[in-house]
Parts: sequence; structure tokens; C-alpha cells
Amino acid sequence: MVIPLVLLVAAATASSLTPPSLEHLRGASRRESALLRDLVARSATARNLADQIESEAVIVYVEINTSMPRGRGATRLAATTPLARFIRITLAPVAHPDDLAALLAHEMQHALEIARAPAVTSSDDVRRLYRSIGEDRAATVAFETVAARQVGARVRQELSRAASKPNRASLAGSTQPGGGAF
Ligand SMILES: [Zn+2]
Repeated sequence: MVIPLVLLVAAATASSLTPPSLEHLRGASRRESALLRDLVARSATARNLADQIESEAVIVYVEINTSMPRGRGATRLAATTPLARFIRITLAPVAHPDDLAALLAHEMQHALEIARAPAVTSSDDVRRLYRSIGEDRAATVAFETVAARQVGARVRQELSRAASKPNRASLAGSTQPGGGAF
């Protein structure tokens, strides 16, 4: 009698600690998958974004690209198939892990912006979308939205609060990577 009870308790504890399953959000390697899991475990805003992405017919791949300028992030429509659109988030390395996580959240907002526009099926469509929702309507290469900047800043604050000790790279670092390029 004792052993099954112990197992039950262990199972209940494990399930309550398991982050939401991410089937539409995928890391290119274990590093990116761990970054995703850590982000949604520690930030309510990122968790909400992940839930919304999971409900859309998109697959979002996250990769860290060391050849990109530091602090930059990019979200692109990689491919369109009858079943799903494939979106790729590329992140450049950032010194502080929480800045990288906040940058990921920022780009997840862009992925959601594309996901919520089902008529967007090509790079030209993405440019048209961002000319209508972007901050700079005259932009041609790199686009930015108020929502993505706000998400990045909010998530960075949540991660700072979630950290056991305060860190020096608090808000200053989070607004820097705001340049989402498409
Ligand atoms: Zn951006």
C-alpha cells in the first residue's frame, strides 16, 4: 500500500511542474529547446504567447546563430505548406541568458503576429503585413512593432523578478535587442 501511494504523489508532483507541452515551438537543438522551456517556465507573458502560438497552424523553429550581430533577433516566414506555415526565429548570442530569453519572447510576439495573419504566405506578404502593423510604415528591410518591444521589456522584468538574486543587466539590456529584422 505504501509504495503505490508514494508513486502517486511523485506523479502528481511531476505533472504539476511540467511546463506546457510545446509542439508548435521547437528548438533547433537541445540548447534552444532548453531556452524555450526555461522561458515559459519563468515568464507568464511568454507562457501566454506560447499558448497562443500552439493554437495556430504554424510551426516555429528557434535557432541561435553565432554569426549574427550580438543582440539581434529575426523572425522570418520560412515555408508555407497546405498544413502549416513554418516560421524561423533566429537569435544572436547575448551575454546575459535572461536577455537572450527576453529577445526570444520579443521574436515570439512577431511569430504570433505572422501566425495570426493566415493570408501571409510569402516574404512579400510579411513585408506588406509589417508595413501595415509596423512602427515605421516606410521600412523596407527591418520591421518593428510596439507589441514586440513591450513583450520583450515585460518578460525581462518578469525574469528579473524570478531570479533569486538581482543582476546588473536588468532593463538596460532588454531594450537593446529590440531590432527585429525580417
Ligand atoms: Zn522586433
